[in-house]
Amino acid sequence: MSFNIAIDGPAGAGKSTIAKMIAKKLGYIYVDTGAMYRAMALYLLREGVASSEKEKIGEKCKEADISIGYENGEQIVFLNGENVNGFIRTEEVGNMASASSPHPGVRQKLVELQQKLAASKDVVMDGRDIGTCVLPNAQVKVYLTADSHVRALRRYKELEEKGVACNLEEIEKDIVERDHQDMTRELSPLVQAPDAILVDSSDMTAAEVADAVIALCAKKA
Ligand code: C5P
Repeated sequence: MSFNIAIDGPAGAGKSTIAKMIAKKLGYIYVDTGAMYRAMALYLLREGVASSEKEKIGEKCKEADISIGYENGEQIVFLNGENVNGFIRTEEVGNMASASSPHPGVRQKLVELQQKLAASKDVVMDGRDIGTCVLPNAQVKVYLTADSHVRALRRYKELEEKGVACNLEEIEKDIVERDHQDMTRELSPLVQAPDAILVDSSDMTAAEVADAVIALCAKKA
């Protein structure tokens, strides 16, 4: 049986940084489910669908074939065969992902793909509903959070390093809005699974969080 680690939490909590560190240390595969929702959002944006057009989202999402692969240990997301890694990290795509992800058609398609990946391989998977819906039997579940100001500051620094012009207040406002949308949606809202360990990373380094999760895994193994 494969060993599954589920990491859920709000935007900018450091899930992907930590999941990548754990995957590297344990030799597991890292599955970034947010990237899949982002690829779907990119498709919808390219097709000119607005976030308010619920029916159209339900129809159009059927046309998008999303799959993942790995190159030098990095996850690549393919949208209808095209590597879209370079297009999915914008705020526009993130906001569209949050607006389109509550859709049953979108979720059904992506959850199925995620479950298939985890069934055959040891994975560290991060997202919003991994411990609650996608991998309810994951051996280790973590709910990773941090103060919204700390999360905004981390995003700001990340963007600044990439040379992207940004505004800290706007980033925090965006993060708070996206969390609200993700936590209050009807289908698979972001919520801590009853058996997930809560980790607040506000005053922790990424290495400290990764070590804490690895220690949990050792206990369960
Ligand atoms: O984690 P990331 O910011 O890339 O996720 C983008 C959006 O995709 C989230 O705001 C959320 O609406 C959606 N998502 C989701 N379920 C997941 C992962 C992401 O609904 N498992």
